[in-house]
Amino acid sequence: MKKAIEKSINKPSKKLLKIYTQTLVVDACPYCKSKKFYVHGKYRFTNRYRCCSCRKTFIPSTGTSIHYLHKKDLFLDFAEIVRHEGILTLKEVCKRLDIANLTAFDWRHKLLNSVPKINKTFNHKILCTDFSIRFSQKGRKGVRDESYHSSANSYFDLSNLSQIISVLDGKYIDNKLSTVGPLTDKHIRRVLEQKLKTVNRFIYLCKNESYKKTISSKTIEFIQPVKIIDDSKFEQKAEKIRKNNFDLKIWIGMNMKGVATKYLQLYSNYFCYRKIYSFNPIGKKCLNLRYVWSVFTLMENFYKTFIINHTVKDYILPTKRKWKTSFNYSLAVSEIPY
Ligand SMILES: [Zn+2]
Repeated sequence: MKKAIEKSINKPSKKLLKIYTQTLVVDACPYCKSKKFYVHGKYRFTNRYRCCSCRKTFIPSTGTSIHYLHKKDLFLDFAEIVRHEGILTLKEVCKRLDIANLTAFDWRHKLLNSVPKINKTFNHKILCTDFSIRFSQKGRKGVRDESYHSSANSYFDLSNLSQIISVLDGKYIDNKLSTVGPLTDKHIRRVLEQKLKTVNRFIYLCKNESYKKTISSKTIEFIQPVKIIDDSKFEQKAEKIRKNNFDLKIWIGMNMKGVATKYLQLYSNYFCYRKIYSFNPIGKKCLNLRYVWSVFTLMENFYKTFIINHTVKDYILPTKRKWKTSFNYSLAVSEIPY
């Protein structure tokens, strides 16, 4: 009897087997990205590989969102819910899947880390603006979340605002968390420099002198207020970017009941991606991202670096979570959340 139970536990479901045989593509070492590796025995129902360069062993799911998961099938159900219904409240998810709050929280962030990055260089006329969302430390132990309880005065206190730079290029809106506090030339340059290399027309929707410094060599048009422009196509685009940012703020405030600034970039990526593309977290595109586990476990470190180097805030009360492993493998700049 015991043996039979053990066997049924070890036997992968059809869905999981399909993920391993059809969805996951092993074409490089997840640690060092070398293309040279060989089959090095079996791990349960799948192959184990060894990299010729770094000598580490790995399986097809190493580094992906399903890495180190005990309840892989339940996670696949969770991913299906997100795919078809969007991000539900943690309470709803816990009830439906009978999982703990922290599990639902972790799984959500693994999926948010799986949103494909649109890392293109802008080629044509782009529209750019910025907006802000209240700085939040929601969920951080020992910190009272002040985002929704502060007095009206502190709302106008720049040091409490997370600043997001928003760029519309073609159909896609790319949002980047740039600082907490006043937005300066330094922050704008950090966020936009790489992408703006090939831009020949830059239109900025608000009056912010800092942009002039950043892109002084470009043809810049500062448009303020937007309404004076007699160009219906442009006005449509301007409306699109404004509406997207407004909707994002409402979604974060109302649907998500606020999001910690630590995770703001991830939620924004998801929101903007879903406006244009359908998001299938267990499709080929998302499930083959092998930086997900690494970014997920190192999130606190990225947040710390961001707060210390690019904001007016102090880094306080570190969140301490221990992971069995945390990859220390090479991440591309584009793979780091902010
Ligand atoms: Zn390797």
